[in-house]
Amino acid sequence: MRLFDPHIHMTSRTTDDYEAMYAAGVRALVEPAFWLGQPRTGVSSFTDYFDGLIGWERFRAAQFGIRHHCTIALNPKEANDPRCTPVLDVLPRYLAKDGVVAVGEVGYDSMTPAEDDAFARQLEMAKEHDLPVLVHTPHRDKLEGTKRTLAVVAESGIAPERVVVDHLNEVTVGLVKESGCWMGFSIYPDTKMDEQRMVAILREHGTEKMLVNSAADWGRSDPLKVHKTGLAMLDGGFTESDVDTVLWDNPVTFYGQSGRLVLDELPGFSAAKETFEGNSVLRGGRDEAVA
Ligand SMILES: [Zn+2]
Repeated sequence: MRLFDPHIHMTSRTTDDYEAMYAAGVRALVEPAFWLGQPRTGVSSFTDYFDGLIGWERFRAAQFGIRHHCTIALNPKEANDPRCTPVLDVLPRYLAKDGVVAVGEVGYDSMTPAEDDAFARQLEMAKEHDLPVLVHTPHRDKLEGTKRTLAVVAESGIAPERVVVDHLNEVTVGLVKESGCWMGFSIYPDTKMDEQRMVAILREHGTEKMLVNSAADWGRSDPLKVHKTGLAMLDGGFTESDVDTVLWDNPVTFYGQSGRLVLDELPGFSAAKETFEGNSVLRGGRDEAVA
């Protein structure tokens, strides 16, 4: 199974996760910029993080045979903090960089006027930079949040096929399908959405414009959920080709709209002994444990 995880926060994961993901078939991923748990206190906290996504994390993933891409944005939660909103002025510099395949995560958390403003401004930036957009939907009041999200997307004039609306469930999938936007689903270990429910949604709504991700981060989550969804699809009667469509071709088509996906196999990655600005990544192999 060749897999693409279109939404995973690797910054908060370990090298064990990278190894397990590679073993399960993950060859490419997208890491969206989001908040850090601990609130940020200023713009430089964002820029260090963005630089890390574009540089260090991309390098770290490559050590494990996985192609890393990212999305860049002011996330909805921190759009409410006036110490953070000036980052909107530096985003264009990042949106021009290789490895940045979309604007995101944008959208709503608590649906405040500050979130309205940041969301609308970033949709404009996506149009200017000709990039797709990853839109987060709130976990509270999801139906209202999704309706309002779709209204703002429509009003912006961005083409719906360049937008994925993420963290959907049985209640919100129909609305997003009707809008022409892509549909994203985050599969969690014990809440919100699991792989069996995902299979039922695919059976009802088909495989077109469907993206499945693990959304794994620093919270309780499972970076192998894309793989487990593939297994559940096969168990549920889907073909290998259906699995390939949903778990590889679809994210490639969606993020490929950026023109910046790099998907060729990493040459001899298992023997990589490069360093990134003086930092080496210990891969755990005994033969490589000598400095
Ligand atoms: Zn996320």
